[in-house]
This record gives sequence, structure tokens and C-alpha cells, in this order.
Amino acid sequence: MDETREEPGDRLIATDVLSDEAEDTTIRPATFGEFIGQEGVKETLRITIAAATQRGEPLDHILFSGPPGLGKTTLAHLIAREMNAQIHTTSGPILEKPGDIAAMLTLLGRGDVLFIDEIHRLPRVIEEILYPAMEDYRIDVMIGEGPSARSITLTLEHFTLVGATTRVGLLGSPFRDRFGLALRLNLYHPDELAAVVRRSAGIMQIPITPEGCHEIARRSRGTPRIANRLLRRVRDFATVRGDGTISGDVADRALTLLGIDPLGLDDLDRRILRVIADDFRGGPVGLKTIAISVGEDVRTIEEVYEPYLIQVGFLKRTAQGRESTSAASEHLHHKW
Ligand code: ADP
Repeated sequence: MDETREEPGDRLIATDVLSDEAEDTTIRPATFGEFIGQEGVKETLRITIAAATQRGEPLDHILFSGPPGLGKTTLAHLIAREMNAQIHTTSGPILEKPGDIAAMLTLLGRGDVLFIDEIHRLPRVIEEILYPAMEDYRIDVMIGEGPSARSITLTLEHFTLVGATTRVGLLGSPFRDRFGLALRLNLYHPDELAAVVRRSAGIMQIPITPEGCHEIARRSRGTPRIANRLLRRVRDFATVRGDGTISGDVADRALTLLGIDPLGLDDLDRRILRVIADDFRGGPVGLKTIAISVGEDVRTIEEVYEPYLIQVGFLKRTAQGRESTSAASEHLHHKW
């Protein structure tokens, strides 16, 4: 993950951030074989990469979408590696002026990957420079100012743009259409997350039982980044309160202490559901009202919290606003 990127989900239990980041680079999958799940996405990528390699051509532009922490950045790195290409990474909010993107584009070699995270947050001026860059591998830049200003055309090497977004709907269709491949990543199944936990624990040399892997996986909201983060917190608990081994019982106690319930909901998830279920009798409630009531920004609720609440069947998005389900009320009033 780019250090300059603020990831809303990172606020979840964000202690020990420095050592977490150092460990992140060692547990990030380095090959497609190590990348667990998302079989359809992986197969499509394998075919596209093999075809481009056979033809000796650079890869088509690729757009990844899906909630944070599902592996979009990891896949961009894997693609570059498979193509034996350099990867240059940046993100939408960092690129402000036309010169910022022109400087990056002109540095790219043939086949290089330009990874733009949070691509839905690119300013319009930058997006417009990218259109001819993606299609015809050229950019028009203005030099000078006032009456003596003139536009010159620079030709670029055939590069591959890989974009990642949590909000594909915010990308205009002219932009979306310029990606040859648009792939959506979905939340992971608990069995897949258990495999992620087992693999990370192996790399970090943390003793863990199969039950321990499953307990963490079940409570990781379908997200590998959260599974890895919870693994570290449970490791701390196992070291201090146990013999260092993560069993199902140790994982359960540690996660309960962290306020994470058996379905993986944290305090903010429960507060969001309570606003809808209790304060507004099940809704519909506008997203802004929910955000104000729980003191969190709209984007975080929509991109980080809602996908999982929808997946577990606790929340529905309707034209009138958000509604909670009877399963949500039961869950909230259940005493753990
Ligand atoms: P995104 O870019 O979608 O926010 P990342 O690619 O940064 O997500 O992934 C977050 C972390 O989760 C990575 O560092 C990696 O360790 C882990 N991860 C993500 N997807 C997988 C996967 N399919 N298998 C194993 N680990 C994964």
C-alpha cells in the first residue's frame, strides 16, 4: 500500500502501524499461485497476460474495482512481475496538475505498468490528458504562457495503465471504456480467508491451529487486509495471555476483547445498524443522516462498512435510503 494513501479501513485497530507496514511487504503475495481466491479474476488475467506475451505486445489497460483491502494493489504488482515490467505507482488525489501526470507518463518504458490507485479521485484535467495517452500513446502539453504559449505533442511508449477504485460508479463512461479489461473483486469466503491467515501466520512464524485460522477468518469481514491485521492483534494476545499459540479459543477471546463480534462487526458497524434499526425503526434513512449520527464520513461508511453489512444481509440500499433487516435487529439484541 502506498504510504501516502489514507485508507479509511485502516482505522480499525490501528495500533503498531509501523511494524505492521514492514510486515506487509513480506506477506504480500509475490506470485499468482500465492494469491488466494478471486479465481475468475486470476484466470482472466492469466489468459490476457499469456496472449499479450505470445504476441509480444504490451498488456491492455486494466481497471480493478471493489472495496479496500481485497488485493487490487497486489494484483497490479503481480501483473508487472508476470510481464517482466517496471511498475510506477501513484494515486488519484496526489496528481493535481497536468505536469504531474506528464512527468510520470514520459518516464514510462515500453510495457511498463502505471498503477493509479483511487483513480475515481483524479482531477478532470488529468483524466483528459490520459484519454489520448491511453488510446494513441501521446499527450499534448502546453509550454509557455500567454500569447507565446503553444502546445506540443509528445509520443509515449506503449504502457499499461492499471487503475484501482472503490467507486467504479464515479468514473465517467468515456474513461471506463478506455480500459480493455474491467475486473471486479468481491469479498472473500471465510474458507479463503482462513487460507490467507494460515499463509501469513506461516510467514510470520506464528503457531496457529486450524480452528484459530477459521475464527479469525470468520471475523474478518471478507477482507484479507483485515484478516492479516486481526492475526497480528491476536498474536499479541496469545503471547501475553497464553503460550503463544493461536487456538480457536484464544482467537475468540482476543477478538471479543477488541470489540469484534462473532460475525466480525465492530463498534461502528453496530452503531450504524442501531441508528437505522432503533432510532429510525428500520429506515429508510439517508446516508448523510447515518454519517452524522455516528460521526463518521459518508465515504467511509459507503465504501468500507456497507459492503459487508449488505453481504451478511443486515442492510439494504433502496432508492429512499438505507434500511436494516430483521436479522440485523436480532443480531443487535443478541447478548454475546
Ligand atoms: P487493495 O489495493 O484492494 O486495497 P491490497 O492489494 O493492498 O488491497 O491488499 C491488502 C493486503 O491484503 C496485502 O498486503 C496482502 O498481504 C493481502 N492480500 C490481499 N489479497 C490477498 C490474497 N488474495 N491472498 C493473500 N493475501 C492477500
